[in-house]
Amino acid sequence: MSEYYQIAVDGFSSCGKSTLARQIGEVLHITYIDSGAMYRAAALLALRNNCIINEKLQPECFRPVLQKADIQFHKSTNHLLLNGDDVEEEIRQHEVADNVSEVASHGFVRTLLMQLQRNYSHTSSIVMDGRDIGTHVFPKAQVKLFIVADPQVRAERRFRELQEKNSSSTFEQVLDNIQKRDKLDQSREVAPLRKADDAIEIDNSHLTRKEQLEKAIRIINEKLEDKQ
Ligand code: C5P
Repeated sequence: MSEYYQIAVDGFSSCGKSTLARQIGEVLHITYIDSGAMYRAAALLALRNNCIINEKLQPECFRPVLQKADIQFHKSTNHLLLNGDDVEEEIRQHEVADNVSEVASHGFVRTLLMQLQRNYSHTSSIVMDGRDIGTHVFPKAQVKLFIVADPQVRAERRFRELQEKNSSSTFEQVLDNIQKRDKLDQSREVAPLRKADDAIEIDNSHLTRKEQLEKAIRIINEKLEDKQ
């Protein structure tokens, strides 16, 4: 086994992957990377540079902008920094949510962000959440979890979170966005969302966060012991 290990946490939109992956990172004292935040930052950048026309990304406009961009996480807050600015709040707004799956469907965007994602594994063990972590970014990850939950339950959770942040989105908008993103993420040609053959599925529709974390840690410990 190499010095560092990777844990991939994939699954559908708003099913608690980020919360789970962050908690795993805290429990195991390893780096947590939210790959969705990187795609959201790319979408924000495309919007800011007017590279999305009629809901379609314009590659000739966006490629040079993305190539020059600096996308990183703040060392202590873990907030996303786009060209040095903390954009954590902006990337959670619905304009970004509405455009991110289109931006993420382009091969050149994925190639560039995947390289940044892989770089994190050179210097520490990591847990990364996303859609293609176990299938493309780290196909040899020691542990792969695939998180699923009922769409209605996911929309209710996401809606509550947004209300706490005083967002103006309605429940219908949230549910509609989740369903649209699921469809786009599963049907895109490059690195579509799918469960890796060796991933273990966790359905958290009826699990508390604590129960879900306990289950995940049990699975991770078993897998890491097997690989030693
Ligand atoms: O995880 P989150 O919902 O923040 O991700 C936002 C969007 O980024 C997803 O709907 C998907 O289109 C894209 N994404 C992706 N591959 C990843 C992570 C996110 O395509 N590894």
